[in-house]
Amino acid sequence: VFTAANVAAAPEDPLFGLMKAYREDPSDKKVDLGIGAYRDNNAKPWILPVVKKADDAIHNDPSLNHEYLSIGGLADFTSAAQKLIVGADSPAIREKRICSLQTISGTGAVHLGGLFLSKFHPQKPSIYLSNPTWANHKQIFTNVGLKLADYPYFSPTTKGLDFDGMLQALQAAPTGSVILLHACAHNPTGVDPTQDQWKQIASVMREHNHFPFFDTAYQGFASGDLVRDSWAIRYFVEQGFELCVAQSFAKNFGLYGERTGAFHFVSAPGADASVANANIASQLAILQRSEISNPPAYGARIASKVLNDPALFAQWEEDLRTMSGRIQEMRRGLRERLIAKGTPGNWDHITSQIGMFSFTGLNEKQVMTLRSKWHVYMTKNGRISMAGLNTNNIDYFAEAIDSVVR
Ligand code: PMP
Repeated sequence: VFTAANVAAAPEDPLFGLMKAYREDPSDKKVDLGIGAYRDNNAKPWILPVVKKADDAIHNDPSLNHEYLSIGGLADFTSAAQKLIVGADSPAIREKRICSLQTISGTGAVHLGGLFLSKFHPQKPSIYLSNPTWANHKQIFTNVGLKLADYPYFSPTTKGLDFDGMLQALQAAPTGSVILLHACAHNPTGVDPTQDQWKQIASVMREHNHFPFFDTAYQGFASGDLVRDSWAIRYFVEQGFELCVAQSFAKNFGLYGERTGAFHFVSAPGADASVANANIASQLAILQRSEISNPPAYGARIASKVLNDPALFAQWEEDLRTMSGRIQEMRRGLRERLIAKGTPGNWDHITSQIGMFSFTGLNEKQVMTLRSKWHVYMTKNGRISMAGLNTNNIDYFAEAIDSVVR
């Protein structure tokens, strides 16, 4: 029998625990480099000007109401999200072999994909995750009954990609394995394969008939260029892979709490591809119905308005360059300061890594000293959210790193 008293307390989510410790620290010097959310130069959340504009227009639109969306979500949103990630001229769209459902942001999309594979993959496969990866991947896939495996990804020596280790693991994985790939701005390391390395990854995956599961949470936010940040996914689609994509609009629209995302399934090219894809869409709709019935409307309306209006879209690209540009400036600024101080070690990885995060290489002891002595908060693995740095705290942070590294 179920006895509620036997349920043990779950450990606190490490990231949310970190946020709490930061909030409770009374120091006026404190620096929050934990949470993966964009901050402006005043360390404040930033409402993208284009989002404000779309929001105002939606607010004043008398034709809108609070009815349910359909199971698959807002069609104008999912079709635009699809074009954004695979390209408007993608063969997958032309040949009607991509289906898309609106989800509870990227997390919901990862979950829907995991649930679908768990239910329909004949072997209950292991899902291969990069080591390290976004911590939530492990919980999400475990919860839907998939087994976890991993492939090497980060080299502590170079603080770059362990490309040989990754390729060897993909070669050794059983034929037809599911491989989770971060499309760009890998979380937590900020390390991405080059285009040439992606080609080699695709070639090994093709040879072993592996199934790519792309997670894209930073398109446009990483480089400031939406096409460049979706290059890997578009390349795999061009190569004729069957694959799926979990897409988040939390970071690139700053719509974190509105839970705006999409899940896409691309079927391999072939005579029956569009029929097979429609079957998959119908099954995904049943899973979605049983889990959330239908997705939330608000964020999707905002994203849809921007994605479908050329003038707003252009303004969005400008806003993306503002965010990615500020982050790149902080990367350069931090590296320059550490070099100027002669801080021991090589700091090139600060600028070669990309996106929201940098894997600094600081160890747990150093991280803890930064927290207790300097009131600087980052995750224990030495990951910093670059967006937490600004022109007011970057000198202080460089001084803090210098002191714990010496
Ligand atoms: N995947 C990765 C790799 C992420 O970093 C994130 C955001 N931290 C997500 C998915 C999903 O985030 P959300 O559910 O807020 O869209």
